[in-house]
Amino acid sequence: MSSLIYLDNAATTPVHPLALEKMTRQMEDQFGNPSSLHQLGMQAEQTISHCRKNLSAILSCDPSSFIFTSGATEANNWAVENAWESGKNKGHLLIAEATSHPSILAKLESMKKRGAKTALASVTSSGLIHLEELDKLLSTDVIFFSFTWVNNETGVIQPIKEILSLVRKKCPRCLIHADAVQGFVKLAEIKLIEGLDCLSISAHKIFGPKGTGAFITRKNLPLYPLIHGGGQESGKRGGTENIPGIVGFSEAAKILHREMTAHHTRALELKKLFEKMVLEKIENVLINGGENRRSPYITSLSINQLRGEVLVHALENKGVIISTGSACSSRKKTRSHVLSAMKIPDEFLDGSVRISFTPFHSQEEIETAATIFVKTVKELQHS
Ligand code: PMP
Repeated sequence: MSSLIYLDNAATTPVHPLALEKMTRQMEDQFGNPSSLHQLGMQAEQTISHCRKNLSAILSCDPSSFIFTSGATEANNWAVENAWESGKNKGHLLIAEATSHPSILAKLESMKKRGAKTALASVTSSGLIHLEELDKLLSTDVIFFSFTWVNNETGVIQPIKEILSLVRKKCPRCLIHADAVQGFVKLAEIKLIEGLDCLSISAHKIFGPKGTGAFITRKNLPLYPLIHGGGQESGKRGGTENIPGIVGFSEAAKILHREMTAHHTRALELKKLFEKMVLEKIENVLINGGENRRSPYITSLSINQLRGEVLVHALENKGVIISTGSACSSRKKTRSHVLSAMKIPDEFLDGSVRISFTPFHSQEEIETAATIFVKTVKELQHS
């Protein structure tokens, strides 16, 4: 593993050693059930409460409306369910922007069987929500609007203030949800800001463990449980809490949040270096969404006359790990719905790859990866 250059960090990150240490200690020494009355149980409950406070403070939300989940997929599903349960007597239209994660898009699709109407808000060729088109979709029938704040394939950052002001003006009672998975503890603006009703986050994109995330709502927003059970999470989500996961999530978030500005600068330097080396040496490369504000952690490149999956495998053989798009769609062998929504020209679409960074790579590693990338693209183009 050590000889690999792992640049698929938007799919998942390894667990940070300090987070792992805390998780191990928790499992060995404080393994009580937080619902138990004895000391070990109370200790476990206090641990969860401490982690909840830590994470809520980062997002500027009230700890009472921060609920741990099994990840962002559950949180995204919950956002849709909650909007439907609380809004179905007022309206029937659920809207998501077209580059949303499948955990929103597939959930919306499933809601049609229950009488919901759905619509997708289109994006521009640079991946930003098309505000004039969105405006046309908005009416008093809309009870839910969801968008991915930082896109997981392109890193494009949506203009939150403009979106909120437009949707709020036309649909004052609709529930607005942001998928904040790729921005949490990476961009300072990612918080439960005024006008936003709920957020989803996930631990395994920030050096925490897989299978842990959170659904965060504005204080006093009515919340309908998705999972019914033994009263955990203030009766909002049943099931014995995943305390090792929660501990790892909180510790990883604390570490990343503390160094967020320095990490941002570093990741941006590395991403720019990679992009520059590739653009200098390869013709006909598009940086998808390149004209926008993008996350310093993700770049999406489309190369003319190349197949993304062939490049991914060729690079893996040389020790460089990247992906064709999101991990959720790259095995399906279908074209990326994100890049299709951006109307990337056909001759570039199949040659799309995502490279996703951390602030912890050395400059040498990125230079090596970019050099191998360029060489491999040229070999494939001439084969
Ligand atoms: N939303 C986005 C933007 C993501 O990148 C992911 C992870 N691929 C998810 C939601 C789902 O998160 P999880 O893996 O925690 O279910």
